[in-house]
Amino acid sequence: MHMSTSEIRAAFLEYFRTEGHQVVSSSSLVPHNDPTLLFTNAGMNQFKDVFLGSDVRSYSRAATAQRCVRAGGKHNDLDNVGYTARHHTFFEMLGNFSFGDYFKRDAIIYAWTFLTKVLQLPKEKLLVTVYATDDEAYDIWAKIIGVSTDRIVRIGDNKGAPYASDNFWQMGDTGPCGPCTEIFYDHGDKIWGGPPGSAEEDGDRFIEIWNVVFMQFNRQADGTLEPLPRPSVDTGMGLERISAIMQGVHSNYEIDIFQTLIRRAAEVVGIADLENKSLRVIADHIRSCAFLVADGVMPSNEGRGYVLRRIIRRAVRHGRKLGAKDVFFYQLVGTLAELMGDACPELKSQQPVIERVLKLEEEQFVRTLDRGLALLDEALEGLGDMRQIPGEVVFKLYDTYGFPADLTADVVRDRGFTIDEAGFAVEMDKQRERAKGASSFAVDYNKRLKIDQESEFVGYECLSSEQTIT
Ligand code: ATP
Ligand code: MG
Ligand code: MG
Ligand code: MG
Repeated sequence: MHMSTSEIRAAFLEYFRTEGHQVVSSSSLVPHNDPTLLFTNAGMNQFKDVFLGSDVRSYSRAATAQRCVRAGGKHNDLDNVGYTARHHTFFEMLGNFSFGDYFKRDAIIYAWTFLTKVLQLPKEKLLVTVYATDDEAYDIWAKIIGVSTDRIVRIGDNKGAPYASDNFWQMGDTGPCGPCTEIFYDHGDKIWGGPPGSAEEDGDRFIEIWNVVFMQFNRQADGTLEPLPRPSVDTGMGLERISAIMQGVHSNYEIDIFQTLIRRAAEVVGIADLENKSLRVIADHIRSCAFLVADGVMPSNEGRGYVLRRIIRRAVRHGRKLGAKDVFFYQLVGTLAELMGDACPELKSQQPVIERVLKLEEEQFVRTLDRGLALLDEALEGLGDMRQIPGEVVFKLYDTYGFPADLTADVVRDRGFTIDEAGFAVEMDKQRERAKGASSFAVDYNKRLKIDQESEFVGYECLSSEQTIT
């Protein structure tokens, strides 16, 4: 059965509506009342206080299609874009929620019924994982659903490794969390990759489509787990991933929305090869950038605005790489508004603002981009056998040419180079000292944005724990 992205979104909400769920609108990408969060990264964010018991709603079951951005903070997929078939900076998460209503058994039955009855996916293409010690979930899959035990994998909480499965879900360093069960789809043996839990799992053969979290705890700042007042359920299914399956393609970038955006991007930068990786990056980035501006974020030198600026500049760089001569990025906004304006009316009403902001940002950056790239080329030539760009070069590019450090890393990644992040941080420190020395009233606009995992709360300016970004 072939279904468009819009049809799947509608079918999901309708199914859960008939199962007694209140259909709730997506919340903004800017979590205004949650300073622990950079951007909305999951459907459960807007219900955080309901899970914690401090907010009560008139319903105990809800369903949403939530817009999400994962480009910083606990869940950061920016560096995956262009490299995996399944990651975006912006995506829509379909979710059903129970606030102290149903728990493990019904949550699993709903997910399975939606996939195998409503969408009619073949059972033999699906695989499930459960939290290592969750015998209850294991038994529900094995005995009630009837999944054969060779298709049920137990996974623990692997800390650190970016791809390694982790079956303990948490939205951030603090807040609601719990063990989960995930449903994977097998895209077939022509694609590299192994099942979850195997050494080859970071391939794209087995793709996680749905994560069902049994919300049971509230993680405290000191790391301890406090039980929630009522065990609840939070689920999330990536709309683009399930669309790929329903449209008979492997990569998210081959689905309807992305094909249209990629064709438009090829047209505005003037290339014919639709397979080019940079087109995928641009098609991804226009969505996060347009939706972020629609939700009120403006490019700036710190916090959320700096994340937006970084994404815009990366997209601009990829466009120039493809040969774009004119300011191009904003020209994709109209196409996006046509594609997604129904699901998100803000996109249409804000279209002129989004275009203006993106155009201005690109115009500013292209003034220094080519000279910065030339400097980088020169630096690469001078490196000899070294495969790391020195911190001073990364800093010069940042300071003089407006290259965010992750953009420099992105430019050199395909050529087999990395950047010296620690060396870059040292240069940033020196600059801060200089700024302080210059005037005791100086405002430090280039303040380093750094997350400190140990500290209780560092504010929405925090980015990823692995990266120090300025
Ligand atoms: P992965 O392991 O593939 O990175 P995840 O476990 O980090 O996914 P969850 O936090 O469980 O993802 O989010 C719930 C669902 O949202 C996932 O099962 C997936 O379908 C979808 N999803 C997560 N991250 C992305 C992304 N960056 N782009 C598109 N879809 C995503
Ligand atoms: Mg992930
Ligand atoms: Mg996962
Ligand atoms: Mg998951």
